[in-house]
Amino acid sequence: MPGRYTSAQVLNVHERFVLIDCGEGTQINLRRFGINFNRIGLILISHLHGDHYLGLPGLLNTFHLLGREKELHIAGHRKLKDLLDYVFGMAGFEPSYPIHFHDIDTMQPGDNIDFGEFNVGFFPLKHRIPASGFLITERQRTVKIRKDFIEVYEPEYEQVRAILRGEQYFDNNGKEVPAEEMLIQPAPPRSYAYVSDTVFDRSIVPFIQGADLLYHETTYDKSLQASATEKMHATSVDAATIAAEAGVKQLLIGHYSSRYRTPDLLLSEARHIFPETLAAEDGLQLDIPISSGL
Ligand SMILES: [Zn+2]
Ligand SMILES: [Zn+2]
Repeated sequence: MPGRYTSAQVLNVHERFVLIDCGEGTQINLRRFGINFNRIGLILISHLHGDHYLGLPGLLNTFHLLGREKELHIAGHRKLKDLLDYVFGMAGFEPSYPIHFHDIDTMQPGDNIDFGEFNVGFFPLKHRIPASGFLITERQRTVKIRKDFIEVYEPEYEQVRAILRGEQYFDNNGKEVPAEEMLIQPAPPRSYAYVSDTVFDRSIVPFIQGADLLYHETTYDKSLQASATEKMHATSVDAATIAAEAGVKQLLIGHYSSRYRTPDLLLSEARHIFPETLAAEDGLQLDIPISSGL
């Protein structure tokens, strides 16, 4: 639709960018919203319907024209690799940068790949063709020693190491110093779950349990439940029900049918079941807050 592009999201994990799906026109919008192409180190493609990947050959070509040297990881179904090999083979194209392809077809539900700052888990979605959901989880930060503890007690280096290993520490009077006076516990790692496209499917709930933010496709409103099921897409009620059952903190809906001029109806239906719901729109930028309760 005018002003509304197909699926593509950029997840910024400590300035390392993950591009999730790459519909037609993605590179135009990456420029429009000021995304630095070179920071994109990983591209995840959920499935091979055109609205999720047709922008990819063009984007990879642009990376080459820009003289990219940095390696690029792409995770997708095996046929995506065949398709890219075919498209590039036709033109004798050899990219200026190494591409590492991760074949989702070889992965078992719940498998994940470690990218250092974050890891990506994969789980199957029920759609008309093979499709995969993603769970991106930040690396667990380490426990830190409190500055005020060091200043007051002036422990030896070896003692600090022992405290960080979880050992007890006693002051000069032989009194044990409580751990909370010595250590700063790291925030729990944040996670982002991406679910597109799928029919209503409870079997994904264990994979996305407690995610900080869940994106779940919401193609139709609840009056069109029958066509959603037939076309293997989800309704507002489906998405909100999955969010509630998985106990996620926030739900982001998107992938609206072109019959809707605005997502208002879908949003209000979803909020009725899961109040912490937001509606995706082109250019929307969200922060995933660090959980409190440290
Ligand atoms: Zn699809
Ligand atoms: Zn789609």
